[in-house]
Amino acid sequence: MKAITVIPGEKYSADLRDVPIPSINENEVLIRSTQVGICGTDREIHEGLYGTAPKNEQYLILGHESSGVVAKVGKNVSGISIGQRVVRLVRRPCSGCENCNTGMNDMCSTGNFIESGIKELHGSMAEYFKDQSEYLISIPHELCEVSVLLEPLSVVEKAYRQAKEIQQRLSWKPKKALIMGAGPIGILQAMLLRDSGLDVSVVARSLPGNRKSKIIEKIGAQYLSTSLYSLDAILKSVGKVDFVVEASGDSQLAFDAMSAIGNNGVVCLTSITGGEKEITIPADKINLDYVLGNKVAFGTVNANQRDYVQGVRSLERFMNQWPEVLPDMITRRFPLVQFEQAFQLMSDDIKVILKPF
Ligand SMILES: [Zn+2]
Repeated sequence: MKAITVIPGEKYSADLRDVPIPSINENEVLIRSTQVGICGTDREIHEGLYGTAPKNEQYLILGHESSGVVAKVGKNVSGISIGQRVVRLVRRPCSGCENCNTGMNDMCSTGNFIESGIKELHGSMAEYFKDQSEYLISIPHELCEVSVLLEPLSVVEKAYRQAKEIQQRLSWKPKKALIMGAGPIGILQAMLLRDSGLDVSVVARSLPGNRKSKIIEKIGAQYLSTSLYSLDAILKSVGKVDFVVEASGDSQLAFDAMSAIGNNGVVCLTSITGGEKEITIPADKINLDYVLGNKVAFGTVNANQRDYVQGVRSLERFMNQWPEVLPDMITRRFPLVQFEQAFQLMSDDIKVILKPF
């Protein structure tokens, strides 16, 4: 079968390779891959910045944003049948920390976890992939066109779930949210918060009138462009908010986000910033603000199985409420052979996917 592979650590090594179709044991499931999302992590693995091949193998099959149809089921597997649509969980437990032992692989404390398409486990950028049934989430047929968005949505579900858990320290009825960044995470977060009844503003670089701003407006959120106004002016016009999500990919904005939060509010940081940027920050002011205002800032990565399950319900609600928005987020679709084109980000892209079948 065809697969997109990389030699981890080697710059621009992504290649279309012929590899054997995975053989499954009695506890595994073989899946025909129908959609694979491409994200910044895939591009960075392609650039050789990280990624690890499975033990004793030279290459890693890319792809952690999966969706496919069950093609073959091991004889000990129950609850999954041929023809069913599924999405894979990305992270697998380490050999046994207190969190992985209780199913909270997303909170692994050793860092020795495994991740499909990223670290020590082949991903889904291939015609077929295999997995154990416990790492597969069933998707209703109505969601097949947009199911590849479940993985990024699970990250967003976890972010809001944690904010609510943290805010159990008080009586929290959030009304206003600010999101930095209008990539897939920013847009999906805006949808989840609009769906929860919050007044949402999204700050992004591009001028209004593009695909992203149209989607933001369609879901009833406000799109604010830093190409038209300074960030200071934008933050002033929005006023103090109850929940801030930083998803812009810029560490400078993480600190700006921290100053935008109101008293008793919570800031969630989601950007993976691989660089070594240094900035000067008003340390006394930020510290005083957080102490006197009972403020919290937290980071989040990956998601738990319950966030994927919650994400399936959210996808159903989003499709009912805004039927054209999720399909509109998938901006380009390519077969595996055109992976090089798919990896090149265009300015109006939101989510680019590969369609192995
Ligand atoms: Zn662990």
